[in-house]
Amino acid sequence: MKYRQINPIKQEPVKAVLVAIQVLILFALSGCSSVNPQRCDVSIRQSDETIIIGNLIRDASGSEYGAILVRDGHILDIGKINAIKSKAPNASVFDCSSSYISPGLINPHEHPDWSGGFPDPMTRPVYSHRDQWRGVAGPEYYKVEFERVEEDVQKFWIELRHLLSGTTTIAGSGGIEGLVKNAGGRPGDEERYFYLAEMETFPYGFDATEELSGFSCPLAPNESRDPRSHFLEFEDKPPYVPHIAEGTNCTAQIEGKFYLDYVSKNPERRYSLIHGVGLSRSDIERLKDLDVTLIWSPRSNVVLYGTTVDIPNALRAGARVAISTDWSYSGSYNLLEEFRCADHIDNTQWDDHLSESDYWRMATEHAAYSLDVEKLTGKLEQGLAADIMIFRKRTNDPFGDMVSSKVSDVIATFVDGELLSGYSGSFDLSKLPTQCSHRIGQHFICVDYAKDYSFSHEELLISNTNAVPLFSLDRQASCE
Ligand SMILES: [Zn+2]
Repeated sequence: MKYRQINPIKQEPVKAVLVAIQVLILFALSGCSSVNPQRCDVSIRQSDETIIIGNLIRDASGSEYGAILVRDGHILDIGKINAIKSKAPNASVFDCSSSYISPGLINPHEHPDWSGGFPDPMTRPVYSHRDQWRGVAGPEYYKVEFERVEEDVQKFWIELRHLLSGTTTIAGSGGIEGLVKNAGGRPGDEERYFYLAEMETFPYGFDATEELSGFSCPLAPNESRDPRSHFLEFEDKPPYVPHIAEGTNCTAQIEGKFYLDYVSKNPERRYSLIHGVGLSRSDIERLKDLDVTLIWSPRSNVVLYGTTVDIPNALRAGARVAISTDWSYSGSYNLLEEFRCADHIDNTQWDDHLSESDYWRMATEHAAYSLDVEKLTGKLEQGLAADIMIFRKRTNDPFGDMVSSKVSDVIATFVDGELLSGYSGSFDLSKLPTQCSHRIGQHFICVDYAKDYSFSHEELLISNTNAVPLFSLDRQASCE
């Protein structure tokens, strides 16, 4: 964590009014669940140990009432409440007995520096390759509008959008320190990332259409080509997580085949594959044997290409599938929204092949595996990071409840054992640490701005009035 001196801001009258308006709008939009706010009773003690009590989701079979003991950011033990309490009688306690406790969600495909803006209203699902909407495949294709986010105060807002919805790790180039944990890295900037994952986004170049134009479909059996060599720069071979086969045309199909050919010849690291819309049926069937995790972004696929990967076929073939949002320009605003889009596609096109627990696994243990961090996070398991999402229990089906959850149903998010955000109505705010006093709508966030950031809470609110919102789904891309 880098610490920077805060610049004291003068609260000009106009600014104060704008902040007040922003706070009121956020309050109105941030949820209507206050009718039945499930409570978390908190007792904070001078202790390096924390106990979290509730209905623990440890695997896809359901939940079990119990307690988690956290020390130094890690899960030290899990078990019956009395047994855990007797092991740590002086621990701070979060008793969220009426709620579900899940591993924090892991989003293995975002673009934290490119996810602050609304979808271009001209976007139509008319493309057959990423190069077309990016404007490099020729003037006949409409180039979609998007822009990079430059300021930390904007990047903070983007990560906050994910944190408030229960996400504890995001993979993708960029982002800020603090809040969610970032996975990513290119040679030279790896210190910015909590988990190293090689992010040479487009290994066949920024113009794969041109680079692969010498090949045609179908390929001869022995035709192949390595991805651009510079994604191999990290000597310790962290997981490789590129965008591959993003589209439906021949170029996309060739990317998929060439990438899997490469993986088969170089098996000594963890590989994932973001998108894969253009994977041929036979290449989907290679994923399992090659141990390549498919990182699925259904909303973004449907918005740009009018279709998505045949996930039932991938699962039947034994492939591991993770789920992710992609960016705000074509994807979901948070992972909960991505669950809903995935479920909509599943119900309307695949005859309800997927179960709700499939989505939960895609966003926890499979997402962790896609980033080679499954021994570090992604499960409620002894020794793993205490990355935790607590959400409202409405029925006895934790996975159904999760898939229908909105941001206002997320009661708390812990990263490395630290409470970072929560739903105000579920807590006695006077009992929380002082850094949790920052209100956003009906939620609070726990941040020491003066110590860790160059902006204040008021500046955060005022700087993001035109960004993709934290709670509303205003202008989110459609999933139809
Ligand atoms: Zn992407």
